[in-house]
Amino acid sequence: PFEYAPAPESRSVVDLASSYGLFIDGEFVDGTGGSLKSINPATEEVLAEVAEASAADVDRAVKAARRAYTRVWSKTSGKDRAKYLFRIARLIQERSRELAVLESLDNGKPIKESRDVDIPLVAAHFFYYAGWADKLEHAGFGPDPRPLGVAAQVIPWNFPMLMLAWKIAPALAAGNTVVLKPAETTPLTALFFADICRQADLPPGVVNIITGAGDTGRALVEHPGVDKVAFTGSTEVGKAIARAVAGTDKKVTLELGGKAANIVFDDAPIDQAVEGIVAGIFFNQGHVCCAGSRLLVQENIADELVARLKRRLSTLRLGDPLDKNTDIGAINSLEQLERIRHLAGVGDDEGAERWTADCDLPAKGYWFAPTVFTGVSQAHRIAREEIFGPVLSVLTFRTPGEAVEKANNSAYGLSAGIWTEKGSRILKVASQMRAGVVWANTFNRFDPTSPFGGYKESGYGREGGRHGLAAYLDVV
Ligand code: NAD
Repeated sequence: PFEYAPAPESRSVVDLASSYGLFIDGEFVDGTGGSLKSINPATEEVLAEVAEASAADVDRAVKAARRAYTRVWSKTSGKDRAKYLFRIARLIQERSRELAVLESLDNGKPIKESRDVDIPLVAAHFFYYAGWADKLEHAGFGPDPRPLGVAAQVIPWNFPMLMLAWKIAPALAAGNTVVLKPAETTPLTALFFADICRQADLPPGVVNIITGAGDTGRALVEHPGVDKVAFTGSTEVGKAIARAVAGTDKKVTLELGGKAANIVFDDAPIDQAVEGIVAGIFFNQGHVCCAGSRLLVQENIADELVARLKRRLSTLRLGDPLDKNTDIGAINSLEQLERIRHLAGVGDDEGAERWTADCDLPAKGYWFAPTVFTGVSQAHRIAREEIFGPVLSVLTFRTPGEAVEKANNSAYGLSAGIWTEKGSRILKVASQMRAGVVWANTFNRFDPTSPFGGYKESGYGREGGRHGLAAYLDVV
């Protein structure tokens, strides 16, 4: 059994990660721009200060990636690329305690999630794509699939290490080099990962990590030396990136926001459904692009289901992310907390009924108690807009047809859930869903073998599985 590192040790992990600087061409170097503070959202303390990469730093990183691509990585056999990826995967496993603690400190997520979900999945992604690196000609993309070149990768703060793995593992397996920018509020595990690349003896320049905010991200995706842009984040920034690269020959994949419907039919196994609803919207404080934020429940069981859900939510423990009994951690930033508060206030103003789990919020830090809105209609903003927090909107339906219509009545289309005993209904409803992932009698399940991605304003392109390789290969 895993025991997470105690506080003094975890402090040194932070010092370690934040002492590094930018990782360019296999070395940690000083940035030429300003600096950014990373805050521990559970305490409001400054955890670390990291470089804010300037346009000149971005240029240096892209050029290093290009050199590494031309001189080394494009000439490295699939078998050898696999060897490096397997090494990285094993090092992630070896250093999983440090990574889990660092992730929870920087992001605010409960240690039992970073320890049991995030970091194991990160290692799993590197193992999975290591397995593909020497088998690309069997991937069904033609006899000689080619890498794209230099990939610019920009990721959000909700799953910092996992999003990094989704981006870097397939890119390297397919033979590309990368420049990755983590989100400004969660830069530390990416820097720690840079050290893992060094430990794995990865050739310099194959992976470059630059920290910074939106301006750094913009300079990176707009750099003319970039062949491919992979972005995960908000729909608003995704659209700005699509506009910025329009007219260039850059390939783009966008993984954006969501407002998933979690549909519970009256024949569903109700206790299991309650657990699935909780996992769907309260996992990672609801900071999940595919969160089941719209509960669609069949009208005749709505009262009973909501009553059971509230009882279950009352048992969740909110507090210190490093306590292994914590279920709900901190909101990642004050900005995000204010956004959640604002949208919940909009729900009040729109006439929905707010219920909040009765839990004590710590005096310091950014916290939001699990919240359920009932009496929500499709026109309400809390039914349409992504809140990206622990807030569930409950709507009802009478027939399967109405459920499908309501589920699809969204600008987004990333994921959906169905709860029913009837296999035939699962197949029928799932096939009518305009969503990239449809879970049946479960929710928020991830696996490196499964492609993930959106319809509509949730973006385009797929990550994960064989499809995830296509995003980094020249396939016709
Ligand atoms: P965000 O769009 O504000 O930021 C994401 C990243 O983009 C950050 O690294 C940021 O610094 C950078 N950035 C900001 N402006 C930029 C610009 N003009 N050019 C280039 N880069 C820029 O999103 P966020 O608040 O960090 O993350 C939350 C959003 O991410 C939510 O909408 C969520 O649904 C989405 N998300 C989607 C997925 C998915 O797979 N579809 C996964 C996780 C999160």
